[in-house]
Amino acid sequence: MSAKLLEGKPIAERIKEEIKKEIEALGRRPVLASVLVGDNAGAEAYVKSQKKTAEALGIEYQYHKLGGDASEESLGRFIDKLNNDNGVGGIIIQMPLPAQIDYKKISRLISPVKDIEGMHPANIGKIIFGNAKILPPTAASVMELLAASGIDLYGKEVVVVGHSEIVGKPLALLLLEKFATVTVCHIGTSKAQKLEEHVKSAEILIVAVGRAALIKKDWVKPGAVVIDVGINRVDGKIVGDVEPEAAERASIITPVPGGVGPLTVTLLMRNLVEAVKLQR
Ligand code: NAD
Repeated sequence: MSAKLLEGKPIAERIKEEIKKEIEALGRRPVLASVLVGDNAGAEAYVKSQKKTAEALGIEYQYHKLGGDASEESLGRFIDKLNNDNGVGGIIIQMPLPAQIDYKKISRLISPVKDIEGMHPANIGKIIFGNAKILPPTAASVMELLAASGIDLYGKEVVVVGHSEIVGKPLALLLLEKFATVTVCHIGTSKAQKLEEHVKSAEILIVAVGRAALIKKDWVKPGAVVIDVGINRVDGKIVGDVEPEAAERASIITPVPGGVGPLTVTLLMRNLVEAVKLQR
């Protein structure tokens, strides 16, 4: 069997059309404030791609760069300025941050109604109650892909590999909201030699680890739906966390690149529109 490819781009294009209509209805150009601290080529490239997506949607992308020696306090003061600026609709702090700045502390300083990465405790907390308007974009991207695949999550055995704050943990909550039976695996599962056993039970498998070919083809249940969030650079090529040959066993699989990736920036922009609506 050869799996059907579940690509992110057509879904992203549909959502972009919806965002454009929402922006029209807002009646003004929303402003996204993006803050980078210090020099980082990877982050600069990400900023460029965000700016391009934003501007194509009619969003003003305001880019701020602080020196690499900025303190937690000075970044905090800068965020406060953006929080209090009525012209700014959403704030994103680019990663990585220099060692002297703790992201967890910083993510709490962004006003929850401007937190378009959905990482403020108030926004994460709302996911538990199923009424969050702003979701972490990568977790939300996986949910959009699953929705587009037409799979009914109710009662399905879903295995999530990776329990990070930006992907695995919020995703587990979103899946529970759909009445999936969710198992979350992580490094402890691997160390206990139980990863293969859990993966083999998955009707739907979502992997967000950052280790090329961690998931072996033979572990994938025949007919499973596989969402590969991983991004790894191997010999100059981008690959996921799942062996590509798993496509011979899965019924549906996301390509890497081209699966989750094209959706995340789009959903960041959707969060901006939601944030502006919440501020009204
Ligand atoms: P992270 O480093 O914060 O978390 C990694 C997770 O993997 C942890 O839960 C850890 O316990 C688990 N893990 C590590 N080694 C393991 C092993 N051997 N077996 C089982 N679990 C193991 O990572 P993250 O920020 O969630 O990112 C995960 C991957 O997703 C990365 O490749 C990242 O580049 C990618 N990512 C992609 C997008 C996108 O837009 N496509 C967005 C965000 C992250």
